[in-house]
Amino acid sequence: MNAIDLTNIHLHYGTGREIGEAVLSGADLRVADGEIVGLLGASGAGKSTLLRVIAGLQPPSSGTVVVAGKTTDDDGMRPVPPHLRDCTMVFQDAQLFPHRTVAANVAYGLEAAKVPRAQRRQRVTEVLDMVQISELADRAVTALSGGQAQRVALARCLVLNPAVILFDEPLSALDRGLRQTLAVDIRKLLKQTGTSAIYVTHDPGEATTLADRIAVVEDGKILELGLVGELDSSTLTTSVTRLLGDIGEVSGTVTAVAEQSTTIALVDQHVVLPGRHGSIGDTVMVQLRR
Ligand code: ADP
Ligand code: MG
Repeated sequence: MNAIDLTNIHLHYGTGREIGEAVLSGADLRVADGEIVGLLGASGAGKSTLLRVIAGLQPPSSGTVVVAGKTTDDDGMRPVPPHLRDCTMVFQDAQLFPHRTVAANVAYGLEAAKVPRAQRRQRVTEVLDMVQISELADRAVTALSGGQAQRVALARCLVLNPAVILFDEPLSALDRGLRQTLAVDIRKLLKQTGTSAIYVTHDPGEATTLADRIAVVEDGKILELGLVGELDSSTLTTSVTRLLGDIGEVSGTVTAVAEQSTTIALVDQHVVLPGRHGSIGDTVMVQLRR
């Protein structure tokens, strides 16, 4: 079963005579179970719109949306409402509840699902530990850094163990180094929990660090480009090549340095580069160029 199946999605904002230009015009996308798709596209291309359609926050003008195998509610009458889709969303601004502590923000979804208090506590502790912010449990969310806030936002999603998490440029307000660290951590967590994801970003390096596969929104449609590391430049249009820019940039850790070569551990593989570079334990950026 696919985690997400979008077929022939059309969408224009507005109704009646105020009908706008089509934002999506025949978009198709499949995300396999456990897969992470990195979604790139120019500003205004319709990336956020597409995520809202998947989450059920924005009805499409036409087309079929299947999330975790469900298209309609149990009566078969209406599209599945947002709170019953097995999917949650992480936004650019973390959108935390300002009057709750970190732990209470993470507990929110469990309270809504009427999970008993003791179980709630245990699950929140477990998830805060997963996202490496256990020590912040009792802190007010107004006293967090941008990176910490996004860890809380992710924890708030993970606590519900959803089939799918939709990310809408969650790291774009953070500086580059932090973005790389968080991208690596988010990928690990998604893989560890088997969660499927669509990850929207305008940073091709972030997309390749995080995703298994890359897709692009262009002219209302989705071009599924292929697996990270197997992108075939000869088949890409100029506009897509421009969008991908410095694609292939990933962060890694130096694990061995010899006279003639350096070994770097990437997310789940090693590369050996000619020459000496840095020392063991250094965090380094590796750029793969065509
Ligand atoms: P992206 O996330 O790729 O930058 P969006 O999905 O936010 O793009 O927007 C796609 C297009 O739809 C843009 O032209 C934007 O102005 C328009 N748009 C987005 N949201 C609305 C809305 N609620 N009402 C009308 N137009 C909208
Ligand atoms: Mg957007």
